[in-house]
Amino acid sequence: IEMQDAPYLQGLNEPQRKAVLTTEGPVLVLAGAGTGKTAALTARLAHLLWTRRAYPSEILAVTFTNRAAREMKERVGRLVGDAVEGMPWLGTFHAIGAKMLRRHAELAGLQSNFTILDTDDQLRLLKQLIVANELDEKRWPARQLAGLIDGWKNRGLAPADLDAGESETYANGRGQSLYAQYQERLRLLNACDFGDLLLHMLTILKRNREVLEQYQKRFRYIMVDEYQDTNAVQYLWLRLLAQERKNICCVGDDDQSIYSWRGAQVENILKFEKDFPGASVIKLEQNYRSTPHILGAASGVIANNGGRLGKTLWTDIDVGEKVKVLGVWDGPEEARRVGEEIEGLQRGGLSLDATAILVRAQHQTREFEDRFIAIGLPYRIIGGFRFYERQEIRDALAYLRVVAQPADDLAFERIVNVPKRGLGDKALSKVHQFARAQGLPLAVAAARILDTDELTPQARRALGNLIGDMARWRSMGNDLQHPDLTRIILDESGYTAMWQADRTAEAAGRLENLNELVRAMEEYENLSAFLEHVSLVMDNEASAEEPKVTIMTIHAAKGLEFDTVFLAGWEEGIFPSQRALDEGGLASLEEERRLAYVAITRARRRATILHAANRRIYGQWTSSLPSRFVAELPPEHVDSENTMTGGESLWRANWSERADPFADASRGTGRGPGWQRAAGVDLKNPGGTFPSRGFTREQPRVLESRASAVSFAAKP
Ligand code: ATP
Ligand code: MG
Repeated sequence: IEMQDAPYLQGLNEPQRKAVLTTEGPVLVLAGAGTGKTAALTARLAHLLWTRRAYPSEILAVTFTNRAAREMKERVGRLVGDAVEGMPWLGTFHAIGAKMLRRHAELAGLQSNFTILDTDDQLRLLKQLIVANELDEKRWPARQLAGLIDGWKNRGLAPADLDAGESETYANGRGQSLYAQYQERLRLLNACDFGDLLLHMLTILKRNREVLEQYQKRFRYIMVDEYQDTNAVQYLWLRLLAQERKNICCVGDDDQSIYSWRGAQVENILKFEKDFPGASVIKLEQNYRSTPHILGAASGVIANNGGRLGKTLWTDIDVGEKVKVLGVWDGPEEARRVGEEIEGLQRGGLSLDATAILVRAQHQTREFEDRFIAIGLPYRIIGGFRFYERQEIRDALAYLRVVAQPADDLAFERIVNVPKRGLGDKALSKVHQFARAQGLPLAVAAARILDTDELTPQARRALGNLIGDMARWRSMGNDLQHPDLTRIILDESGYTAMWQADRTAEAAGRLENLNELVRAMEEYENLSAFLEHVSLVMDNEASAEEPKVTIMTIHAAKGLEFDTVFLAGWEEGIFPSQRALDEGGLASLEEERRLAYVAITRARRRATILHAANRRIYGQWTSSLPSRFVAELPPEHVDSENTMTGGESLWRANWSERADPFADASRGTGRGPGWQRAAGVDLKNPGGTFPSRGFTREQPRVLESRASAVSFAAKP
């Protein structure tokens, strides 16, 4: 009865209380979005501290992001006061792994002050090894090796654990040897990469009984949020640590597993009951976050996935607005509409802080950023940089700035050796000295120094090529449209190729950002007008306290909630992504659908889903189809609006006319009505069939298929 009064129990429902109060033994909380899993986990932490079942240092609590860790700590602090001080083991897997490894570094052959390498350092190291092994780096890119090594580490595999098949995937069986050499180099450098933080710890725990026992004793209680997105090494590590006391509580939702591309294994949920026999499995079914329409919409979409554990969700929140599905003409209109809606809601008293725009891919933020800056709507980007601050965008802009303005030294320095063209620090410092001595801008000094014998022949050749290219690009600028010029510069400089050689998921995003940059330029009359716009944008940093709209990817929004959510770009090829469609497997499509579920369930009161009929891709207008997920929304939970007077009916007519030839197209899911099945293929809309009346914007110049590899003749 005394327990009932504990502050952290107030308002919790029965199963939530059970999750909090079942402190001994394994507990698995398996429940849908917004059912209070994180809330229950937080209360559980408060309970353990409040009842003094454990000291703060005896609890291991894992969150998915650093921010989530901070929030949990704050909330527990509000519930139980100072008792939360000194929770050294509350954080992400990486943060906790790093802390542990520092204490036992010598067991991994490191010193406790080891450095943690970032991706760039990692790549540089791998490149050296590839060269030292006399492999062709073009054929066997370092980034590919980096991806493989990360994957092995995620799966808990040290070099000695690889079988021949694994090793075979790189350089004809030399993967294992290179992986081993890489680990050895890291050791010599007293360094490790992110994957090592957990893999080293796992190895240490496996090999050193006393260390393992020390932690098994120390961690009286273990708790994990977002359990569905743990990978194999994290799982093995948890299992070892929990084996002694078995007081482990994991909360998760199989429908929200969205990180399989980073090695997450949703099967860890199923393994839990096997590894911890007698585990209490608790289901939470009441959703406290969203209106019935939002829940109905999300449930309708996820119902199309197979192999789900299956869950019930209900809410007693009063009926609110239906989910709005808004079809717009093109990308700029999408951004304009969202801006207008937000301003309208703002006048109605809505705080910008309670509003979010969620996108599938980073590059989609650009259109919103430009629009919001134009209308003075403060925004923040979470989980990434603002568009014009991203590395690849800054690099590309630097090329343009040097071409537009040869005296721009900062821009010149930024790109002179990006991509790598053999201009080392020595050569560059010669150029610097020369420029200072002669009082010249770097780009001009670089041209003049070629006539001297200051540089090595190799550096001279490399610099000569670059200077020649720049002069050529400059003169091309007189005849070419600036977006076309940009594309040529990015190609001829080798900059695009540099990212194309990169096989990580991140690289694909960078290439998309570069395309988006070219698209953005098309909205400006000339290069200098565009560069002027960019410098204004960069200057436009909203103040810290001011309420702001949040723009972020769905991946970054996991676990968060907002009153109002706009879900942009629900079109085939964007969401589901073209990559998911190209890979074609049901698994990748189902992961996209889980993303759709995560996206919709972030909304508390209002959700608006947008799709545009046209997108500009590579400078050409392309018509797009609404995402199949739009069609999966149950009609009773949706209000549709289309702002394309005339456009949409024409679009539909066009589609039904064209639908048959695709009827058994090999792409797509092979399920659902014919148009969904075919929807993996972009509608080929013959140019000039759009009527010019009824459209508010200029008529698109060219209408072309985006999926150029697929033609009407393509049939199984
Ligand atoms: P997700 O799957 O998205 O991570 P979740 O299951 O972790 O969601 P929470 O974020 O913990 O859900 O809770 C969702 C919302 O419901 C929060 O605003 C939380 O404060 C509220 N909530 C949780 N439990 C209760 C409760 N018993 N009574 C009232 N509100 C609650
Ligand atoms: Mg949560």
